[in-house]
Amino acid sequence: MTPVNSDIALISDIHGNLQALEAVVADIRAQGITECICLGDIVGYGGNPSECINLVRDFCSHSLLGNHDEYTLSGKGMGEASGEVREVIQWTREQLNEEQLAWLRALSMRHDGGDFEAVHSSLHFPEEWPYVLLSGDAALHFTHQVHPVCFIGHTHQPKMWVEGDDWPLNTTSLESLRSDQKQVINVGSVGQPRDRDERACYLIFRRSQQDVWWRRVAYDIEGAQRAIISAGLPAKFAARLG
Ligand code: ZN
Repeated sequence: MTPVNSDIALISDIHGNLQALEAVVADIRAQGITECICLGDIVGYGGNPSECINLVRDFCSHSLLGNHDEYTLSGKGMGEASGEVREVIQWTREQLNEEQLAWLRALSMRHDGGDFEAVHSSLHFPEEWPYVLLSGDAALHFTHQVHPVCFIGHTHQPKMWVEGDDWPLNTTSLESLRSDQKQVINVGSVGQPRDRDERACYLIFRRSQQDVWWRRVAYDIEGAQRAIISAGLPAKFAARLG
């Protein structure tokens, strides 16, 4: 039986930014989409990690583990993290209760959606959190990709790589999927965009049209900045949002 709306929203890299997450959830609901998958990094940088976990837990049908989530759980993999990141992670850990930590701990590294897959960083050694930035990174990732489409986050930059290409596509907001080649698609960041557009970013996978649609959503940036400052977290993580 075909569901009423088979489109899926994919969100990633929320980073404790509740104002951005609430705006994105409202936008997803306004599109009539009922299925949402979170690709990880729910916490880190932002002033509302607990509220973000609760909202993701309520709203998303699946969530994956991101590196900042793992830092918060175990500190594992934080080798090159700056003192400021460590400070936020320590504070974040203190904001979460046992139940929230247990929920984070149970998150998986990858998701198989039947006609697509999803992972936070890359399918090539995902537990080491590699970045897909160059064609070589994408090529390694593709050797593990089973389905035509894989969704990722981690770099905070909306992008689409087609297998065999030297460069990612110069994507517009809407991109058709190729039926004869694999593609790996970065859905962008909800709470810490790093592509010179300060609005929250997420993606809709429109199954019926076989295309992907990056949505940009304006949100209360000043509120998110206030939450970081009033929590006593490093001001640079607030300044970065605007
Ligand atoms: Zn991230």
